[in-house]
Amino acid sequence: MRPEVLYPLFAPITALPGVGPRIAKLIERVAGAQVIDLFWHLPTGLIDRRFAPKVADAPASTIATLTLQVEEHLPPRNRRQPYKVRCADDTGTLYLVFFHARPDYLLRVLPAGETRVVSGRVEHYGKEVQITHPNHIGLPRDLSSLKSVEPVYRLASGLSPKSLGKAIRGALDRAPELDEWIDPDYLARHQRWPDWRSALLAAHAPQSESDLAPTTPARTRLAYDELLANQLALALVRHALRRRRGRQNSGDGHLRAKVCAALPYALTGAQATALEEIAIDMATPAPMLRLLQGDVGSGKTLVALLAMLIAVEGGAQAALMAPTDLLARQHFQVLAPLAGAAGVGLALLTGRDKGKQRQSVLAGAATGALDLLVGTHALFQQDVAFRDLAMVVIDEQHRFGVHQRLALTAKGNREAANAARPDMLLMTATPIPRTLALTAYGDTEISRLTEKPPGRMPIDTRAMPISRLDEVIAAVTRAIAGGARAYWVCPLINESEEIDLAAAEERFAHLKGLFGDRTGLVHGRMAAGRRETVMHAFAEGVVRVLVATTVIEVGVDVPEATIMVVEHAERFGLAQLHQLRGRVGRGSASATCLLLYATPLGEAARARIDILRQTEDGFFIAEEDMRLRGAGEVLGTRQSGMPEFRVADLAHHSDLLAVARDDAKLCLERDADLKSDRGRALRVLLYLFERDGAVRNLSSG
Ligand code: ADP
Ligand code: MG
Repeated sequence: MRPEVLYPLFAPITALPGVGPRIAKLIERVAGAQVIDLFWHLPTGLIDRRFAPKVADAPASTIATLTLQVEEHLPPRNRRQPYKVRCADDTGTLYLVFFHARPDYLLRVLPAGETRVVSGRVEHYGKEVQITHPNHIGLPRDLSSLKSVEPVYRLASGLSPKSLGKAIRGALDRAPELDEWIDPDYLARHQRWPDWRSALLAAHAPQSESDLAPTTPARTRLAYDELLANQLALALVRHALRRRRGRQNSGDGHLRAKVCAALPYALTGAQATALEEIAIDMATPAPMLRLLQGDVGSGKTLVALLAMLIAVEGGAQAALMAPTDLLARQHFQVLAPLAGAAGVGLALLTGRDKGKQRQSVLAGAATGALDLLVGTHALFQQDVAFRDLAMVVIDEQHRFGVHQRLALTAKGNREAANAARPDMLLMTATPIPRTLALTAYGDTEISRLTEKPPGRMPIDTRAMPISRLDEVIAAVTRAIAGGARAYWVCPLINESEEIDLAAAEERFAHLKGLFGDRTGLVHGRMAAGRRETVMHAFAEGVVRVLVATTVIEVGVDVPEATIMVVEHAERFGLAQLHQLRGRVGRGSASATCLLLYATPLGEAARARIDILRQTEDGFFIAEEDMRLRGAGEVLGTRQSGMPEFRVADLAHHSDLLAVARDDAKLCLERDADLKSDRGRALRVLLYLFERDGAVRNLSSG
């Protein structure tokens, strides 16, 4: 149950003075629908009315508030120019500059001939004095009636600074005093950290630009609170999971030995290490929840098979779940000969399998005649019963949010409460930077395949402007004539799917003119069945050039494909490009990745392409990606499945994360049920950051 002291914070914002349904809708868009959401809507700027110079005296690059006469609106002559409004006082002229302006709005707030108070950063361009996008425009009489320094918040169009400011002040008035949840020793080392309520109020009351930095004592404190809530929630879920009865999966190794003997190669060092970590984890009585991270082609499938065989050696069953029918089939084909070599029963089960075939698989699962099942989520439907399922592998293929998965397993969905939970291994090809991984996992529960199987030739990665398309096509033509297969990716870049599709279709038509029926096209709008037919044709070599619109469509393993062409490479993120490139270079033949870009190439895009040309190390690339984009961006991509933070910004606060993790661990070691005074304060913290789910793992108290 949510602590009573927090009730007012979780009321709808319409409970605040001055917030009616219309304004509530607008505020909801920028901040959220609850009072507490306004707490985390921190200022991005400030209006300093203490500094109110005349135009002639306003120094460049400082924030100032000026009282100006609006003289004339100067709409742009073309779309690339800004909208300007000429203003003046008795000492000089100042232009207000707006990009992507809405003229009707500007005419309303800056009527010619009237006087307005304008605040923002003063800039000098040659002789011209200007303010671009002023953060405040008001009536002169505001000047005396308002405080001299005022925070500026991100707005939605139609929402006035005044209404939002009033709502936020109303929300802050409700901020209660709360008992301290930070460890006293840690707090003592950060003497400048205010208590929670003071920190919140201070963060909303910047007195200077420097107070807006994420590293101020107030903002740092709030960020730490959020990270502590995150880490504590994770620790609680994990703790609860560990308290559940799990399987002690261990085997004598005889099946693993058979499979290894049947392999034409030895395990890589990374595979052996990962397997060891997994085996140790499986052997403990607590249920395993482990992430296996490794680039495309790093050999995760084999690790999964050997891990599943541990359960089978112990007399139980194991299952492998893939995100799509096609991928499930592919896993099955790879695993079937190895299962055969070990003499274990393996079958495939997807939504497509019907009738007798399905019945016999279901019977095999129920009697235990089948040791291993590979399939899609169909594996976990109601009518599928296992005799003794002790180990589950989920191949994420970066499709499912890993974090949601964690929550799901913690719920202990369909099983009887006292049933032993199977061990679980999640596989992902998306290398997650260490700091981010920490926010979703404990660091002891990740195995990483940092090494590729030997014999891989490095991928020859080249970048060139699209103007050299003819050369690219000539090279692809030569390669195809020599028997090669190529992916040709046209990304989704426009707002409109139709336009993108048209671009891909145009490229397809163009290439089809050259390669005839050996050209295929797949895109997200196609029926799944047709898409798979084309993919199969590519896998079989009937289609040699596969044009694809999206990343997802190329999720299939075709070792014979050795060329990856990416158009508009400048539009892709680093991690995405790396994923795409990983689709080639899987066989022993050398592979090429051609990144075609539109000119001029921006600085950030050039940096991304340079990194790709330097390395194929997905973990390194992930760290670089985070460095280039900032953690916020990486986290922001919802498909990453990572929790989103309101205040914390890992680009600045990652050192706090490690502290929060250790502290959370310590808290639970000392007070597993959070019943001490500090424990009770921590419960409030969890509710404050809406980690309620985690609290449900605690007994009431
Ligand atoms: P992932 O699932 O991580 O993308 P796979 O499991 O599909 O990678 O492995 C890619 C390829 O590498 C497969 O063809 C597999 O047979 C091969 N492979 C796996 N482990 C080794 C190894 N230790 N030595 C050589 N080749 C390997
Ligand atoms: Mg795989």
